[in-house]
Amino acid sequence: MTTDNILPVCIICGEVPKKGFKDGFFVRRQFICHACEKEICRLDHNNEAEYYRIVKSLAVLHVNY
Ligand SMILES: [Zn+2]
Repeated sequence: MTTDNILPVCIICGEVPKKGFKDGFFVRRQFICHACEKEICRLDHNNEAEYYRIVKSLAVLHVNY
């Protein structure tokens, strides 16, 4: 692999996870860290600001398809 030194950046929080690729997963070539994955699972529709922030972040997944 030639991508070992390229660290993934989470599309939701914009952070590079400490464990790199092992600390999250790829969805359609976009990276989501485990912390945000948990956040999505816990997502409360009543918390609109947070809900739309994450939905907006996930919208990039549809851009190239
Ligand atoms: Zn994240």
